[in-house]
Amino acid sequence: MWGWDHDVKSGVSGDYSVTIPNVTMTHCQRRAQCEWCPEYVEAGTPIVTVFFWNKGTEDHKGFNVKRYYHPQCWVEQGLDYLKRNPYVPYIRKKKLELTAEQSKQRYSILRRKAAIDQRKRNLNGDFPDKNLEEAKLNTKITELMLEIAPIGGIPKKWLNPNMNQQP
Ligand SMILES: [Zn+2]
Repeated sequence: MWGWDHDVKSGVSGDYSVTIPNVTMTHCQRRAQCEWCPEYVEAGTPIVTVFFWNKGTEDHKGFNVKRYYHPQCWVEQGLDYLKRNPYVPYIRKKKLELTAEQSKQRYSILRRKAAIDQRKRNLNGDFPDKNLEEAKLNTKITELMLEIAPIGGIPKKWLNPNMNQQP
């Protein structure tokens, strides 16, 4: 969304780890190679420093990367990114149209799913049949998906396990 994702090597494809860019503009202290053009940013001139912080996931270590830009190059690369990713108006999703009875059913399924998630979180390494138990719970989740699909659809976060983690 910022024009920064295309030049960061995540080394981690297919997961949902979050990269947070932190952008500052300062006087350049030491000449640095601009990421966008072939020129150096010279000491004493304005420099944009982008610090990417990736907190990683359970399976992947995070990483920190620093990138330097001339201020105008920072703007240019952002505009370039936007050009390659054209504007799409945000459309508010239609509200689910469910009967009172369906809403109740849906709510009950959401509760059951939350309870299963809780049990999954409680499975720890020394649980005797951890994998078996986890497979059972996953089967239950699949059943809940089939149940909830016709009444308002499967919640997006059910399909993205990383969005599911609660602190
Ligand atoms: Zn530049």
